[in-house]
Amino acid sequence: MPEKEKFWNPYRFVPVSAPSPPPRSAPTYHHRLTGLSGTLECRLTAKTALLVADQRGGQGSVRAFWKANDGTPTIPGTSLKGMLRSFLEIVAPGCAIVADEKAEGKNACRDPRALCPVCALFGFVGHGNTGALYRGHVTIGDARLVAETAPPPAKWEQREIYMATPHPTHKAFYPGDAGSFRKLYHHQPKCMSKPAAPNAGIKPNATLQPAPAGAAFDFSIRFVGLAPEQLAMMLYAVVLERDVATSVTGWNGTREETIRLRGDLCHKLGHGKPVGLGSCQIAIQSSIVGDGAERYRRGVPRQDLRGAELDAWHAEQAARFRATRSPTFDAALRRMMVFDESDPRDFRYPTFQWFHDGATSSRRLKPA
Ligand SMILES: [Zn+2]
Repeated sequence: MPEKEKFWNPYRFVPVSAPSPPPRSAPTYHHRLTGLSGTLECRLTAKTALLVADQRGGQGSVRAFWKANDGTPTIPGTSLKGMLRSFLEIVAPGCAIVADEKAEGKNACRDPRALCPVCALFGFVGHGNTGALYRGHVTIGDARLVAETAPPPAKWEQREIYMATPHPTHKAFYPGDAGSFRKLYHHQPKCMSKPAAPNAGIKPNATLQPAPAGAAFDFSIRFVGLAPEQLAMMLYAVVLERDVATSVTGWNGTREETIRLRGDLCHKLGHGKPVGLGSCQIAIQSSIVGDGAERYRRGVPRQDLRGAELDAWHAEQAARFRATRSPTFDAALRRMMVFDESDPRDFRYPTFQWFHDGATSSRRLKPA
């Protein structure tokens, strides 16, 4: 939120965990017989309404969910990869290929022999006509709606919202050193039942037809030739953390007060993030992981994990990644990513008048 306001601006800036440019090194090239390879079967569940829109919709028409050729609402694997990539750009840290437009290109990797941890995992295509390419180690499949988790798509509720068109940056909201921060949108759990109302006097200009909260989408992640620390990093990014307690400081009209929040850390995906759409959570349902070299030489079977065994393995891997992280930084990130179903905050953009009144518009966003 801007300082001394009761409402919360829909986004904040969180610091990246290390100075830019990120650390770089020569990646492991694809030796299929070395490193860890396997498959994760995953389920993404919408915590609020969620829309990964079909871009083919014309102006003025309803923005519907992207669908596979057989008509099944589907989240393209490229969207999931973008979501995980942009998260890891903050925490790994990595260069800003997906991140905020302000930072893009400034510190992006260019040389396949010197890659940040995120490009070394997911790959990259060099800018311009250099032809530089690194294929990456991770393939994410399309996530298809699990039919029994939602009503038929034709019955999904339509929501009229105001979608801002790109406008000049409100300078007081942006940190001076854009390369060291990333823009993240708050979760808005109240949006589960009702989308945020547009500001007074502003007419809705878009109609969205998102999947309802509770809709689930199944997909798989295949990986090949990962170093153990790369696998740990990826597993952390996919699942995040469960049952996190944190707090933020809000302005109640006369003084600052502490708002306690508790819940799982969740991702944000797709359209309508400023009005509260797109909160989602991924669970790994089964994993098959093998060591390429071992399997090849000795015929050792792959480890096939489910249930409690899978949870224990994931916890161990996530702890391994978190041991490399700064607690201060993690605190800022948790405050932004925690999804508390009883979160009392009111999220909205300031009004047109607010932006044009010098007394209010000079107010900065409080740090994340
Ligand atoms: Zn990079």
